[in-house]
Amino acid sequence: MTRFFRFGALVATTALAGLSGAAMAAPNPFASPSTLPLQAPRFDVIHDSDYKPAFLQAMAIQKGEMRRIANNHAAPTFDNTIAAMERSGRMLDRVSLTFYGVYQANTNPTLDKTQSDIAPLLSQHQDSIYLDAKLFKRVETLYNDRAHLDLTPEQAQVLTLYYQQFVHAGAKLSPADQVRLRALNTQISTLETAFQQKLLAATRDGALVVDNKAALAGLDDGSITAFAKNAADRKLPGKWVIPLQNTTQQPDLTDMTDRATREALFKQSWTRAEKGDANDTRATIATLAHARAQKAALFGYPDFASYVLYDQMADTPAAVQHFIAELAPATRTQQDREAARIQETIRKDGQTFTLQPWDWMHYAEQVRKQDYALDENQVKPYFELNTVLRDGVFFAATQLYGITFKQRTDIPVYNPDMMVFEVFDKDGSTLGLMYFDYFKRDNKNGGAWMSNFVGQSRLLGTKPVIYNVANFAKPAAGQPDLISFEDVVTMFHEFGHALHGLFANQTYPMVSGTQVARDFVEFPSQFNEHWALDPTVFAHYARHYKTGAAMPQALVDKIKKAATFNRGYNMGELIAAAQLDMAWHALPASAPQQDVDAFEKAALDKTGLNTALVPTRYRTSYFLHIWSNGYSAGYYAYLWTQMLADDSFAWFREHGGLTRENGQHFRDLILSQGHTQDYGPMFRAFYGKAPDITPMLNHRILGTDPN
Ligand SMILES: [Zn+2]
Repeated sequence: MTRFFRFGALVATTALAGLSGAAMAAPNPFASPSTLPLQAPRFDVIHDSDYKPAFLQAMAIQKGEMRRIANNHAAPTFDNTIAAMERSGRMLDRVSLTFYGVYQANTNPTLDKTQSDIAPLLSQHQDSIYLDAKLFKRVETLYNDRAHLDLTPEQAQVLTLYYQQFVHAGAKLSPADQVRLRALNTQISTLETAFQQKLLAATRDGALVVDNKAALAGLDDGSITAFAKNAADRKLPGKWVIPLQNTTQQPDLTDMTDRATREALFKQSWTRAEKGDANDTRATIATLAHARAQKAALFGYPDFASYVLYDQMADTPAAVQHFIAELAPATRTQQDREAARIQETIRKDGQTFTLQPWDWMHYAEQVRKQDYALDENQVKPYFELNTVLRDGVFFAATQLYGITFKQRTDIPVYNPDMMVFEVFDKDGSTLGLMYFDYFKRDNKNGGAWMSNFVGQSRLLGTKPVIYNVANFAKPAAGQPDLISFEDVVTMFHEFGHALHGLFANQTYPMVSGTQVARDFVEFPSQFNEHWALDPTVFAHYARHYKTGAAMPQALVDKIKKAATFNRGYNMGELIAAAQLDMAWHALPASAPQQDVDAFEKAALDKTGLNTALVPTRYRTSYFLHIWSNGYSAGYYAYLWTQMLADDSFAWFREHGGLTRENGQHFRDLILSQGHTQDYGPMFRAFYGKAPDITPMLNHRILGTDPN
C-alpha cells in the first residue's frame, strides 16, 4: 500500500509557468482543504516546490495543536484529548497523503530531495508526540477511567489504541528505563544501518566472475553482453560478471546449462554475506537479535516477536509458529512430488546426477514447458485492460456490493494516463473517488499498490479518495491495452484494497478503512483476487478484444494449471523464511548471542520441509526484510492473510458465491469495519468460527482447488 500523487501533470505546470508572479503570492495549496469534489488533490495548481514548505508549516501547526491539548487546564475528556488529537494535523495529512502518492508513482529530483529532507523530520515529529509526558498523562487518565466514560465501542477502541501506542513507544517506562530505551533504540538503528551497508557491499562483491564464455552456455546474447559490460565496469576486461539478486535463487540459473557455473553462482548467493571479511553480517545480526530481545524485555515482553505482535491478529509467536507448522506437511508433500518430477527430467536429459538446489530452476523450467506451458500471446487478446476493469473488476463489485461507477474526466490528475471514477453506493449516493494509474514509467516504483489521497472519517466529514497504481506495459499509440492474466489478478488485488478503503465507515481516522494490522491488511485484497476466476465474472470480462468471443475452455484450463507450477518450491521458500524470522525474534533476552549458522540450521530443520533442496528465500545473513526493513517478526503476514482470504472465499462458495447477500455480509462485518474491533472477533463475527487453513492448503499448495 502506499499513497501518491504528483503535481507533475503537464497541463498544470505549463499553465502556471506564465503566472509566476501570481503563483508566488498564492497561499500554499495545502493550507486549506481542496475545493474539488471530496477534497480531491488540486493537481491543477500544486507545484513541486509547494511540498516542502507545506510539510514544515503543517508539522508546526500540529505541534501547536498537540501542545494546546497537552497544556489544557480542563480535566481530560475524550473530546478535548483523544478526539482533539484525531482532529489535529489536517494540513499534514493533506500534504503527506498527496506527496507520498506522487513521490512513489511519479517522482523527480525535486521530490526525491523533498523526501530526504522531510523523512527524518517526520520521524522526529512523531516521536515528539508519543514521548510527550503531559500528553500521555491525559491519555492514561482517560484509559484508566474508560469504564466510566460512556464511550461508544469505536471510541473505546480508539482510546485503547492511543494508550497502547504511547506505552509501546516507552511512555510508561521509568526515567531510567527511558534512558536505556533510547540507548537501545540508537544501538538497534545503528546495527540495522550497518547490516544494510554490509549486505549491499557483500551482494555487490558476491557477483560471480566468469573467465570462460563457454561457462555461460544457455544464456541469451543480451545477458552475456550485459555481463561483459559489468566486467569491464569492474576493470575485469575479457571476463563476465553475473550480479547477485536479493533472493537465494538466482534467475539466471533457469537458462544456464553448465552445471558447474550454476553451482558456483548458487554458492556465491548462499555465502554472499558469510565470507569472514568486513562485509560478513553474522556478528552484526547476533548483536542485533540480542539487542531487540533486550528492548522487548524492557517492556516486559518475553521476546521481540511478542513486542511486535501485540497489535497483530496472530498476537503471539506461538500462534505464528503453529500456523507455519500447519502449512509445512502439505508443502513438503508437494516439494517431494516436484523434486521427483524434476529428477525424472534430469534422467531423461541423459544425466545421472542427483538434483541439487542449483539445478532446480533449470530443470523446473523444462517441466514447466512440458506440463504447464501458457502462451501469453494466445491469452492476452482476451484481457483488454478497460474491459477487465469495467466488465470484470467493477462488475464483480456491482454484483457483490451493488456499487456503480462513472468516469470523471473533470478531476485533475498528475499524469494524463490516469483514469478517475466516481463510485456510487447502492442507494445512488457518492461513496468515494477512485483513481487508476496503471502504466509503467521510469519514475515510478516497481510493483503495485493502493492508498488514499483522502481518508474516510465522519469526525472530519471526509469521504475516501483512493488510488490504485500498477506497472503494466503501456501499449503503443493506437494499439489495444492487452494485459497478462497476472496483471488481471493484480487489478483485482489492488481493487480489493480499494474496496476496504471505499467501504470505510468510521468516525475516527485512526481506525478507518485500511488502517489495520500487517497480518490483516492483505486479507481483502487477496480475497478479491478470487473473483478473477469466478466463472460468471470471468465469462463477463475475458472476451476477445476484436471478436468479443469467450475464451476457449482449453485456454482457461491452461491458465488454471499454469498457476500451480512449482508451488511446493515457492511456498516452501517463503515458509522457511517466515520460520527463520520468527525463530530469531522469539529468542528471550536471557539467551546468549547466537552462532548464526547453527541457529539457522536448527530453525530450518524444525520446519520439516526439504530445506536442503528448497532453501529459504532469504538466508539469515542476507534477510534484509527482517534486519533493517521493518518486517521483523512480520514476514509471515502475507501467508497469514492468504489463509483468511481463501477461507472467506470458501464461505462465499458454501453460501452461493457471487450474490448481493453474501457481499453485503462481507461488507458489513469485514470491509466496513476498519480497526474498530480486534481482528479475531471480527473474523468470527463474519464466519462464525476461527479461520481454517484447509482452503489455503487446497488452493495454494496442493492445487486441488484451482480457484
Ligand atoms: Zn496488497
